[in-house]
Amino acid sequence: MADTDILVVGAGIVGTSTALWLQLRGHKVMLVDPNPPGSGTSSGNACTIATYACMPVNSPAVLTGLLGLMTNTNSPLSISYAHALRNPRWILSFLSNCRATRSREIMENLASILSHADAGLNPLIEEAQAEDLVVNRGQLTVWSSAKGATADLSSLALRKSFGIPFTELTRAEVREMEPGLTLPIEKGVHYPDARHIRDPEELVRRFHARFTGLGGQTLCARVDATNADANGVAVTAGDTVIRARRVVVAAGAFSKQIKGSGAERLPLGVERGYHVLYAGQAHRITRPVGWAEGGFYAVPMAKGLRLAGTVEIAALDAPKNMERIGHIARKGSEMFADLPAPTSDWLGYRPSMPDALPVIGPSAVSDRIIHAFGHQHLGLTLGGITGRIVADIAEGRQSNIEINAFRPQRRYASL
Ligand SMILES: Cc1cc2nc3c(=O)[nH]c(=O)nc-3n(C[C@H](O)[C@H](O)[C@H](O)COP(=O)(O)OP(=O)(O)OC[C@H]3O[C@@H](n4cnc5c(N)ncnc54)[C@H](O)[C@@H]3O)c2cc1C
Repeated sequence: MADTDILVVGAGIVGTSTALWLQLRGHKVMLVDPNPPGSGTSSGNACTIATYACMPVNSPAVLTGLLGLMTNTNSPLSISYAHALRNPRWILSFLSNCRATRSREIMENLASILSHADAGLNPLIEEAQAEDLVVNRGQLTVWSSAKGATADLSSLALRKSFGIPFTELTRAEVREMEPGLTLPIEKGVHYPDARHIRDPEELVRRFHARFTGLGGQTLCARVDATNADANGVAVTAGDTVIRARRVVVAAGAFSKQIKGSGAERLPLGVERGYHVLYAGQAHRITRPVGWAEGGFYAVPMAKGLRLAGTVEIAALDAPKNMERIGHIARKGSEMFADLPAPTSDWLGYRPSMPDALPVIGPSAVSDRIIHAFGHQHLGLTLGGITGRIVADIAEGRQSNIEINAFRPQRRYASL
């Protein structure tokens, strides 16, 4: 007999949203994580429900600027030589997905799932009574140079073709919207449908509290392995073995470590990202502001002004790279003159497939194991809709959202 109907591995935004959707549908659900809900990568991100963000890191510009990316410490994207040499398959596959045709297909697939993001997230926000955490002031992207603004014209045209609403702004209009910005402004774009969350970790905690209130169980343990048979799945967590009818693997960048789940065979990598926090400085802006050339967002949030972003392709267990933190802090003082010294900094792990698409669907090992990871830069935005899709899959229902591009068995390279 099964100890639980559905066991969800990982209590980040993706796993907790999934557990809550399943519990709301009347299943008996157990959520397993050695750490408190929402305390991992889901805690320190740029807080933005970025429904407009369909442009992947994979782009032809990466191919043309590769050498610079591997040598320039001032670039928003950095690739570790040593890591690239140890992981040639992931890097080559990532680069193959930077070609223009492939990059365009990735955008189409991201734009498609992003258009459903609110339908997965809003019911959970209502259930968890978390409306007070949500700010509806859109997102502002600014360019500080004519060169940068011109380079991004084609990506704006693509967004328009996908039906993503935005307004182009002059320098004066940007200054009027966010007078606290002190960097030179060339132009801006406002995405009115974007929202931000005052505290993303608190959002996950509220989802978890509602899950518990509905009868969901939580186990504080690290899952080592899963073993599926005809009757269910045996889940090993240290000395404990739990039996479940189905298992959802939602352990973010760590999903590959769960043996027997099928995740260990997939090319899951990590795009490390950082934030620097300035407590008491949130008043400087009223909405998330992305600085295109800087490669990060400034966000007014519950704990202060958070500068979050940049991409570092390096090993999951490599030490914190203080050069990356220095890059954000330096650029931060261009964005806001007279910022005090940062209060704290943080390193997070974006779970990233080489084709920048999430993995959502039954594992190749067994359809009793469902994958829900690889949400790269968009886990806060897509956690809710992923949970809803996984609930459909677990119930054997056809999802009304096109998910073929996200199936675990897809081709990850396009060489
Ligand atoms: C700097 C930065 C800025 C970002 N900004 C945004 C943004 O503005 N908007 C947006 O949508 N996204 C953003 N993201 C991306 C987003 O934060 C991630 O995609 C998201 O947090 C991933 O969620 P997750 O639940 O998959 O993983 P996680 O939050 O990492 O959760 C995984 C959980 O699994 C647990 N776990 C690991 N191994 C095991 C195991 N063996 N057994 C049990 N449990 C295990 C961990 O303890 C953890 O709690 C940003 C990311 C970074 C780094």
